[in-house]
Amino acid sequence: MNILTFDIEEWFHILDNDSTRTESEWSRYESRIHQNMDLIFQLLDETNSRATFFCLGWVADKHPDVIRRIDAAGYEIATHSYAHQLAYEQTPAQFQADLERSIKHLQDLTGKKVRSYRAPGFSIKEYNRWVFPILVEQGIEIDCSVFSARRAHGGDASLKLFEPGYLNVGGTLLKEFPINTAAVLGQDLIFSGGGYFRLFPYGMIKELMRRSPYVMTYFHPRDFDAGQPMIPGLSRTRKFKSYYGLQNCWPKLKQLLLEFPFVDLAGADQQVDWTKVVERVV
Ligand SMILES: [Zn+2]
Repeated sequence: MNILTFDIEEWFHILDNDSTRTESEWSRYESRIHQNMDLIFQLLDETNSRATFFCLGWVADKHPDVIRRIDAAGYEIATHSYAHQLAYEQTPAQFQADLERSIKHLQDLTGKKVRSYRAPGFSIKEYNRWVFPILVEQGIEIDCSVFSARRAHGGDASLKLFEPGYLNVGGTLLKEFPINTAAVLGQDLIFSGGGYFRLFPYGMIKELMRRSPYVMTYFHPRDFDAGQPMIPGLSRTRKFKSYYGLQNCWPKLKQLLLEFPFVDLAGADQQVDWTKVVERVV
């Protein structure tokens, strides 16, 4: 099962960087979301694909037409928080307020219930699992934030969940579609989005896809925007993660969508036999 998802944010929503941390900083940068969304819609049209869009409430606020366009095209809308802050840097009260605000903005625009969530930077670690009861309380039924490996912003290696499963949140079952990893030269890497998707040649991505019974992708509007300005002061790692291989990302993903079957999250939810999945107590 291969799932196609996009995180809908601006090109300057870069984590762990002082000049892109808060809303007041963001106001200094030009908006590029419309031209980048055009590329995503074109990609989906040309490959006849379905996708789920994890949208920032902030984008819904500033550019409601973007959310309306996604909804009008019949694609599924989920939340990626309101203000794109790392969950483990928030207090539970701040996290709750931010999530509630994002759900409200998205639901007000579409009139449809927001069922699914992905944390900015997959920022749920072992010590901030308090996120999960808040998701349940806010009506979230599917989470896509689990990343069972250590990485820059998130990752809870102890969960060891690499396929769809249930998170047992105080007796309530939350469906989880985690990020998958693949062993490359002895390391567990993610190839289904971000810097490694852009770095690896297409043949290698294809081989990793063949080896993986479950793939959760995550792309951003900025991944296809070779003309975006360079944000000053980024670390070398951040530069690689955010800027390497932008030129080839669109054609590479297009080829992938033409060669492999993909579903959106709702389609994946229907395909999973939920009576047979693993369960993790969180
Ligand atoms: Zn994000």
